[in-house]
Amino acid sequence: MSTVRNPLTGWAERELVPATPAELAGMAAELRVRADGWRRADRKEVLTAFAAALASDDDLLAALVADTGRVGESSLERRLAAGLVGRWAREASALLAPRAPAASSVPGIVVGGDMVPYDLVGVISPWNFPLLMALIDAAPALAAGCSVLVKPSEVAPRFIEPLMRLVPPELPLSLVEGDGETGAALVGMVDAVVFTGSVETGRRVAEAAARAFVPAFLELGGKDPAIVLAGADLDRATSAILWGGTANAGQSCQSIERVYVERGVHDAFLDLLASKAARVGLTCEGGPIGPIVRPGHGRVIAAQLADATAKGAIVHTGGQIERHGGGRWCRPTVLSQVTHEMRVMTEETFGPLLPVMAVAGAEEAVALANDSVYGLSAAVFAASEQDAMEVAARLRVGAVSVNDASLTALVHEGEKDSFGLSGLGRSRMGAASIRRFLRRRAFLVNR
Ligand code: NAD
Repeated sequence: MSTVRNPLTGWAERELVPATPAELAGMAAELRVRADGWRRADRKEVLTAFAAALASDDDLLAALVADTGRVGESSLERRLAAGLVGRWAREASALLAPRAPAASSVPGIVVGGDMVPYDLVGVISPWNFPLLMALIDAAPALAAGCSVLVKPSEVAPRFIEPLMRLVPPELPLSLVEGDGETGAALVGMVDAVVFTGSVETGRRVAEAAARAFVPAFLELGGKDPAIVLAGADLDRATSAILWGGTANAGQSCQSIERVYVERGVHDAFLDLLASKAARVGLTCEGGPIGPIVRPGHGRVIAAQLADATAKGAIVHTGGQIERHGGGRWCRPTVLSQVTHEMRVMTEETFGPLLPVMAVAGAEEAVALANDSVYGLSAAVFAASEQDAMEVAARLRVGAVSVNDASLTALVHEGEKDSFGLSGLGRSRMGAASIRRFLRRRAFLVNR
């Protein structure tokens, strides 16, 4: 039985209360039955009302703050979640429009088509942005006409109750408290599953989905590189990389987790980044960096730091796991003299570490950036947009921010697919977010 812990104090606040298999099956069956009516409902109106309720609910915000121990990012998270529900409410119908019959290559035969939503989509989500990660896939699935059953992480389940109070009665959305076992059971009850979380769990979900013969869309981890070439605006690059690597205390899939800097500007870049990082404090001191949320994860970050320093890395600022009020914290940590022999350059950290490595130029930067099992996103800073785009086009990742970092957290337009172990199946950006919940059907008419 797992306990729900307070990330600020480390205390166990209560036991987790996982849904029983019978309860889960009952919810799945009820949601499945409602899918047909939902397709005929005014989905835009219902989702718009849900978005408005989300945007202003204080109980929901308080639960997110309790789940994660952070304040600023939780209100941003609530705003982003409400925004995406509203966006899909507005935009879904254009993407769902049937294709009018048109002449085919065979004389006399016309071909048209429509799209058929899955009846029941399962969403299994992580704790790092509990609300956003639950709704980022639930919202387009609902807008597509599916019913949705979400199993959020056992690490941050407090938001489930206030969120369920906001769900309009017509909306076939349920969230269920539970752990990995609950998630595993869910896979066998749905028509398609979206999983966001670690590579290890993603593999298990993909295996279970294959046995259940349902599609699984996997959104997994990352080790995002930033590349800074000579001539780049170093003030801009350091600020963007600092934000990209330390927002949400680095607990984002697309945090910047390694930085390659052209040798001629390496020292200036490092000094500026370290001096900016040293000024960014913890939320328990009035700064923006929240606690480490997942119990025990401080040890993972500490082990990467110990491995790096034992192999010759230099710590410029931060550099240890601190204990305040019972919680575990890590300050923005800038490292130099790092190599790919160190775990901090190859394993996902999920903490605010910024290891900086000097490179000869674009060629070496691209080779090192691509030397990873992951391929989620990346950032490039160069003297000109054209120089940066030449590098961007050689990176084996799904999204590249140019002159900025981690833009996919804020920008919805565009489409991307993950490379390597960062994911499988069409990913959630732009129209693909909704199309992956629809099966295409062709009508071929002999006139
Ligand atoms: P996790 O894999 O430990 O858990 C994710 C979810 O899977 C939880 O709800 C958990 O209860 C559930 N689960 C565990 N075992 C399961 C099983 N056998 N079957 C079905 N479900 C099971 O991941 P986490 O620690 O919650 O999240 C952190 C990870 O998520 C990081 O690797 C991060 O990079 C990744 N992430 C990726 C994205 C993205 O968009 N690519 C976004 C956010 C987080």
